[in-house]
Amino acid sequence: MSVQKKYNKPWPHEISLDGLDKPFWEAALKHTFALHKCTICKTYYWPSSLCTTHGDRAMVWAKASGRGKLHTYSILYRTLHPGFEPDLPYNIAVVETEEGPFVFSNIVGCKNGDLRVGMPLEVTFDDVAPGLSIPKFKPAARKRKA
Ligand SMILES: [Zn+2]
Repeated sequence: MSVQKKYNKPWPHEISLDGLDKPFWEAALKHTFALHKCTICKTYYWPSSLCTTHGDRAMVWAKASGRGKLHTYSILYRTLHPGFEPDLPYNIAVVETEEGPFVFSNIVGCKNGDLRVGMPLEVTFDDVAPGLSIPKFKPAARKRKA
């Protein structure tokens, strides 16, 4: 597809081993941040084909809040994939979602030097190409006190 040539980074379906995450990407295309959720104990996962509490496969993709905090991050100054070279230096972050699961992402909307562990974040969607929207996180808007 010509679209994929313009976006020259790996596509999710190229790196997904089992397709388990396909509904996640379909939700992202609709700007919905989804996490796997056990229908029995309501525990969220990123993603998992079974609940580690129950050993049960009663998992569904559920809309999540999209809120979380920065657990840790790294700034990359080199990359092995040429598609990422124009972005250097860029961050890769681990976000602790409000629901519990830790997810890998990028933090956008602030300088790498302004990243702080624990900073509140909220999801945003990067429509990188037709058919692909990537959930990323940005500093959360400050809540106004009532
Ligand atoms: Zn469960």
